[in-house]
Amino acid sequence: MTAIRSTCPYCGVGCGVIANISDDGAVKISGDPQHPANFGKLCSKGMALAETLVPAGRLLHPMIAGKRGSWRDATALVADKFASAIAMYGPDSVALYVSGQLLTEDYYVANKFMKGFVGSANIDTNSRLCMASAVAGHKRAFGADVVPCNYSDLDQADLVVLVGSNAAWCHPVLFQRLLRAKEKRDTKIVVIDPRRTATADGADMFLPIAPQSDVALFNGLLRHLYLHGHADLQFLFAHTAGLSEALIAAREWTLEAVAEATRLPAEIIEQFYKLFARTAKTVTAFSMGVNQSASGTDKVNAIINVHLVTRRLGMPGAGPFSLTGQPNAMGGREVGGLANMLAAHRDIENADHRDAVQAFWQSPRMAGTPGLKAVDLFKAVHDGRIKALWIMGTNPAVSLPESDFVAEALRRCAFVAVSDVMADTETTRLADVLLPAQGWGEKDGTVTNSERRISRQRGFATAQGEARPDWRIICDVAVAMGFDGFGYGSPAEIFAEHVALTQLGNDGQRKLDLTAWSGADYDALTPQQWGGTQPFADGRFQTPDGRARFVPTHYRPIARTGIVLNTGRIRDQWHTMTRTGLVPKLFGHRGEPHVEINPADAKAIGVETAEIICVSRAAGSSLARALVTDAVAPGQVFQSMHWSSPFAKQALVNANAGNETDPVSGQPALKSAQVKLARFEAAWHGFGVSLTAPVAVPDYFAMRPLTNGFAFECADKHVPEHWPAFITSLLACEPHLSTITGPETECFRCAVVENDKLSFAFVAARTPVTASRDWLMSQLGQTATALQVLAARPALDQPDKGPLVCACMQVGKFEIARFAQNHPAATEHQLCEATGAGTGCGTCRSDIRKIMQDSFRPALAAE
Ligand code: SF4
Repeated sequence: MTAIRSTCPYCGVGCGVIANISDDGAVKISGDPQHPANFGKLCSKGMALAETLVPAGRLLHPMIAGKRGSWRDATALVADKFASAIAMYGPDSVALYVSGQLLTEDYYVANKFMKGFVGSANIDTNSRLCMASAVAGHKRAFGADVVPCNYSDLDQADLVVLVGSNAAWCHPVLFQRLLRAKEKRDTKIVVIDPRRTATADGADMFLPIAPQSDVALFNGLLRHLYLHGHADLQFLFAHTAGLSEALIAAREWTLEAVAEATRLPAEIIEQFYKLFARTAKTVTAFSMGVNQSASGTDKVNAIINVHLVTRRLGMPGAGPFSLTGQPNAMGGREVGGLANMLAAHRDIENADHRDAVQAFWQSPRMAGTPGLKAVDLFKAVHDGRIKALWIMGTNPAVSLPESDFVAEALRRCAFVAVSDVMADTETTRLADVLLPAQGWGEKDGTVTNSERRISRQRGFATAQGEARPDWRIICDVAVAMGFDGFGYGSPAEIFAEHVALTQLGNDGQRKLDLTAWSGADYDALTPQQWGGTQPFADGRFQTPDGRARFVPTHYRPIARTGIVLNTGRIRDQWHTMTRTGLVPKLFGHRGEPHVEINPADAKAIGVETAEIICVSRAAGSSLARALVTDAVAPGQVFQSMHWSSPFAKQALVNANAGNETDPVSGQPALKSAQVKLARFEAAWHGFGVSLTAPVAVPDYFAMRPLTNGFAFECADKHVPEHWPAFITSLLACEPHLSTITGPETECFRCAVVENDKLSFAFVAARTPVTASRDWLMSQLGQTATALQVLAARPALDQPDKGPLVCACMQVGKFEIARFAQNHPAATEHQLCEATGAGTGCGTCRSDIRKIMQDSFRPALAAE
């Protein structure tokens, strides 16, 4: 058995993992007990990492115009297309669009290639969709993109305010750490979010704020803190500037004005303000609900302002804390991987900084101005200004706003190269050249998590096919274009150059100084933070005069022309599911795209739970299953962001997202598009299981993998004239069907049993299917009779687990409910111990509590 320490590739918590490789090559993943980000804990996604190390769907060879090519030809073609576009139209006619999934070394050479050798800053990244507003806010307040906090601050805080962050699902290991701290020291948790999320379930106070009204709330808090004598005047005079302007901007935000803007009761707001005022050790953690906004940067600064005025930063247990979405968004920022940055926290608009970096790189040229940020970059692709585009490790045709526009831009672009791990995505389908990149477990480098901790991601698996590391693919193209300075032999050499660049001319002016890593043994690197545990402990900031800046912030109400579409992650999936979509058990929590809608809005459009809703906007539309819940307020809906075409037919949530961006950060406002809702007038709904992948024939279609096949949900506006013919088109073959035509509410049931084993089953009904999905899924490939399957119910000796609730321990809803009903006095802890549910990562605990409550157990109230 060999144990290799590495880092989880999903969220910005950056958990340490250990890959345990047995002699037969089998890999098991466990949490690294020595990693300070997680101390051995992992969430459901991290625990399932080994199951993603499969060849399914991988891009194995370079592809040129849809045909297999050689690395030599593919590299030469990319180099030639870039060189000829630059020669004819100039450096700004080419662009890179990269990813927070890249390792720091990949990012470093991509940025060097574009800014120093091509001579254009047209390199942007999907991190623009994630934390660009946090970066801009940090730079305005602190003079540099420095996150002031550590995860250990969550252990030491007395109050943690979570703003626009469903940490319970999106940063699960960190949230569980916070809940453990709460158990020990009764940390108060306040959740500020328009939607009552799983995070809000664990909170002492939940403020269901009106969408995009955060600036009003925090301006009101600034005013309250100052007027009630909570300002740290000594700190303010010695270490900050700009308070007067910020207070003038906050002046109008009386309790009444805040109540009107946020639509929160004034007494609740006052309660929150008083709690904040009296609690010195306060962390305000924020995430996408803050960043993905047309006023995202002002939201960030409004939060930072209240920490500056009280000096709640630079000390344990206090500070404004940006929780990064992606695994290496911060590593990318360190090396300048955004269009408006330069490497090593230098400023692209500063001539001295440009000269220093150019001299260090010995590059022939240097981009002189910021390049195009993501949304503008794809507009430039669409209108033909960009002639050659290279996309690395991301799927912009799904993830960018107005995804249909982005797909059209890619179709129009004269040349598109895509480096990716997966062969078939919305973006790879539109590429001229595909370059197979190594995936997690194969590649080797470093990443930086939300608390500035640099960790190694280590390769332990043989690369699939001809896949290569991204840094090498970029360097090969650079060399083919005749550029010097790309002859690296390993990621260790690139990292050493990055370290040296952070040291260059850095006499303490820049917090990003990796001197401690200089000359270190790259293979033996252990997770370490740059900037120390408290980078602002001395009260000195990275501004020219060393003072932090208050920024006057302004509330921008959103124009209400329709229903506000909030979008976000679900518990067990990641991004566009190219990786988590390989793991059947990660679909147990949510098996298809869904939209959360308030009962009043559902009634208004005549939709009941489990029916299909069409969410539309001028730019596009999508279909999703209705989840009617008062967790969202009237006038708002929440839609999960993950479903792309391999998994659902028409579910691209960003087809509806507007392309409005924050004026400072350029981050798109992905959570406030105004949409229309309509009932999808389904004539029937269907559910099926199949050993082979069915074809997406019906209007609504969502498919998930099973360990031995597929399960699918569907609906259509027209009842097929002949059901067996419909099944033939669904399966692309003519199976031997056993069928039942059901009573009034049921249209049709059928099963295919081959060699006594179930290979296909399908149930269609006038209303959403109620047959036991989990039981049908469990029967696929098993010995079965058609009659038994057509009953679509388990036999009495085969109790139905119900929909999966705990992905880690594979415990279903009905198992939990049965235990709760049979043991009405059992506590949550006893139920979890007995069933195993919630004993893995613990993220499902709020779901478990709900199931216990729904099982009507008066004893629960006393727990
Ligand atoms: Fe990975 Fe989960 Fe840790 Fe995030 S919290 S890094 S997804 S294991």
